[in-house]
Amino acid sequence: MSQSEISIVYSEQFMDHQTGSHPERPARVDAIAQALKKSSFSSSFHWHEPRKATVDELAYVHTEKLISRIESLANQGGGMADPDTVVCPKSYDVGCLSAGAGFVALDLILQNKSKHCFVVSRPPGHHATPSQSMGFCLFNNIAIAARYAQQHEFKKVLILDWDVHHGNGTQDIFYEDDTVFFISTHQHPHYPGTGFKEDTGKGKGEGFTINIPFPPFTPPQSIVDAVYETIESTVPTFQPDIILISAGFDGHKDDPLGNWLLEEKHYKLMTEHVCNLAEKHCDSRIISFLEGGYNLDSLSASCVVHTESMMGV
Ligand SMILES: [Zn+2]
Repeated sequence: MSQSEISIVYSEQFMDHQTGSHPERPARVDAIAQALKKSSFSSSFHWHEPRKATVDELAYVHTEKLISRIESLANQGGGMADPDTVVCPKSYDVGCLSAGAGFVALDLILQNKSKHCFVVSRPPGHHATPSQSMGFCLFNNIAIAARYAQQHEFKKVLILDWDVHHGNGTQDIFYEDDTVFFISTHQHPHYPGTGFKEDTGKGKGEGFTINIPFPPFTPPQSIVDAVYETIESTVPTFQPDIILISAGFDGHKDDPLGNWLLEEKHYKLMTEHVCNLAEKHCDSRIISFLEGGYNLDSLSASCVVHTESMMGV
C-alpha cells in the first residue's frame, strides 16, 4: 500500500452505543462514514473492521474496578457512568470495540500494510482516567493503543490532542511516563478544568507533558501556530516511533460545545504539519483517533479534510 492511501477503522456497531438525547450520539460516526464515502478520494480509503479489546487489554491503562463497573452497569440495563456519560445495555461491548479499534490500525502499520490510519470510533476516549469514565468517554482508546504500540516495536509514542477539551485522562495515564509524550491544546477555562500550562509531568515524566491552553474566541491561526511550534521543537528531540492524534473537531467555529473558531482549513494545516514531521522522524507512521465534534456538518466536513490531508491531497 502506498503512503497516499489511508486505512479507516470503522464499524456500524459504533452506533449501538445509544445515548438518548445527547450530543455524543450515534449519528456522529454515521455522518462521518457517509461523508468519507462521498469524498472524491474515497477509492484510496481502505476500510477495516475493528476488534474488541479484551479485559486484559483494557487493563493496560484502567483499573479492574472501572472495567467491571461499566460491564455491570451495561448488564443491569444501563445507567450513568458519570453525570455526562451514558451507559446503555450494549455500551460495554461497543466501548471494548472502540478501545480495540486502534489495535487494528497498529497491526496494519506493523505489517507494513499502511502508514496513515483514521479510527472513526465512539464512544470517544481522552477524558477516561485510569479509574473513572467521564466526559462521554468509557475507556481511553488512544492510551490503550499507545500501550499496545509499546508492546510491539513502537516504544516511544507521541500523542497530540487538539480536541477543544483537555485530554485529562490521557494526561493522567502518562503523567509520570517518559516514553509517551503528551501534547494538548484546548480551550481554557472549559470542561474538565485541567490542562494548565504549568502542568508538565512528574517524576521521570517531567517535561513529557505540554499543555497549550487558549481562551474562548482565540484567533484560530494562533492555535495552529502554537501547535506547529510545539511539535516542531518536540518531535525531533523526542524522536517518537509513531504519532497518535486525539482528533476532536469540537474546536470548530460551528460546534455547539466549544468557543473556538477553527475551520476545516485549520484542521488541514495541523494535519499537514503532523504529516511532515512524521515523514521526517517516524517513517510517516500516524494514527488519528476521533474524539469530540458535535455539529454533524462541521464534524463530517472536517473529518474529510483531515483524512484527505493525511493522504497528502
Ligand atoms: Zn471535546
